[in-house]
Amino acid sequence: MSGVRTRVAPSPTGDPHVGTAYVALVNYCFAKKHGGEFILRIEDTDAARSTAESERLILDALRWCGIAWDEGPDVGGPHGPYRQSERSEIYRRYADELVSRGQAFRCFCSEARLHEMRAAQRAAAEPSRYDGLCLTLSPGDVQRRISAGEPHVIRLRVPNEGLCVVSDLRRGDVEFEYRSVDMQVLVKSDGMPTYHLANVVDDHLMRITHVFRGEEWLSSAPKHLLLYSYFGWEPPKLLHLPLLRNPDKSKLSKRKNPTGILFYRALGYLPEALINFLALLANAARDGEDELMDLHAIVRRFEVEQVPVGGPIFDVPKLDWLNARYIRERLTPEALMDRVARWAGGPERLNRLAEISAPRIERLSDLAPLVGFLFSGRLALMRDDLRVAKLEEVEVRQAFALAIRELDALPVWDAAGIETVIKRIAEALGKKARDAARPFYVAITGSATSIPLFDSMELLGRDLVRERLRNALALLGTPSKREQEVWESLLASAQVPA
Ligand code: GLU
Repeated sequence: MSGVRTRVAPSPTGDPHVGTAYVALVNYCFAKKHGGEFILRIEDTDAARSTAESERLILDALRWCGIAWDEGPDVGGPHGPYRQSERSEIYRRYADELVSRGQAFRCFCSEARLHEMRAAQRAAAEPSRYDGLCLTLSPGDVQRRISAGEPHVIRLRVPNEGLCVVSDLRRGDVEFEYRSVDMQVLVKSDGMPTYHLANVVDDHLMRITHVFRGEEWLSSAPKHLLLYSYFGWEPPKLLHLPLLRNPDKSKLSKRKNPTGILFYRALGYLPEALINFLALLANAARDGEDELMDLHAIVRRFEVEQVPVGGPIFDVPKLDWLNARYIRERLTPEALMDRVARWAGGPERLNRLAEISAPRIERLSDLAPLVGFLFSGRLALMRDDLRVAKLEEVEVRQAFALAIRELDALPVWDAAGIETVIKRIAEALGKKARDAARPFYVAITGSATSIPLFDSMELLGRDLVRERLRNALALLGTPSKREQEVWESLLASAQVPA
């Protein structure tokens, strides 16, 4: 196969997810197996949710995994820019082309009207879909309303009948009735494209030949194929990968289990073990084959036909087993110590730690017990350890539950931001900040006193903090949905400035 080009196209809206590494790996393997190129594109058309920090973390995490891209926002390439927010002009041109051919149209419907329309469709048990009202506007009407400065979006024209057949490399032909495909917004009222337009235009301009992406995008494929046909472009070959699952078959989500690549890094998994593990989820070992394999071997034996259609289980004990084998079988004692040193942190982290710890130790030997919690995985806590003065157990649960949510939303992970969150929660609970902080000490450091809490949380990192708070909360009883809602409204109504 010549000229193969694949890509991974993450949206920088959160922590790098193991699912992104899985999708990246499949795309990488396929491209490399066929002597092609693998591209990284940042899909940041959702300006409200995308952050530069998330983009940085995603690139960092994929690099740590050992997946290298030939073109991308950091390394450049002949089809750049590789960040969609820098390509708005390109999308506008293509949207205008569609409108001029009547394949897309301007829609002036207000939110209120759309809301009513959807409610009526729900009541009539019809598929939720734009009803085409603005398709009936005359060109003169449209021009007049644009001149009057009326806000509007551009929508994809979708036939009212007929079938769209999506050919998926593993699922075969999947049929969709056009009448259940929405007339998707392609350009928002602020002139920014939506994912659908940007994704198709970019895959074409970047000469992507194969798209392997999560199955949650399968239902978008008819819209994409319609766009390809309107533009007269050949669509890439598609394969929708099943989502990774928890052992109970539920969708892998951070509410149940750690899903962040950086969590696994923080816990001391080796990148080659994580990649090896993900590779086995895409292509299980064949008879007699050793499951331990490096990226080179992973690429060589990769077969797209072997990628499962059922959701592979993210089985952490298996990952543990592989990680242990890497440590035992692939690392010399020197290499292991080198890994440990790199994992424990660069000079910046260790200097900061020294600065914070120095006033609290008398002998060097006091250091390890004091800061050991920063270099451990899960803490062995008991419910009773979380009993603190001045807070009822239910208040501790509230504090943890609210903190998990609020800390996740912090744009920058640093001691100052963390402190603001804990103080807001203390105020919402009507407690002094030092009293509210006490159970956090225990949950995070394993002890009632330690080095300063907010610095500890910063140094420990967002992923391990989330995990420790989640574990502590589970000891006291994970809140019900109703409790969570009530507590969140408590925080909102406390009107403490964010
Ligand atoms: N930006 C999408 C995501 O984050 C990419 C979907 C696709 O690969 O087409 O999953």
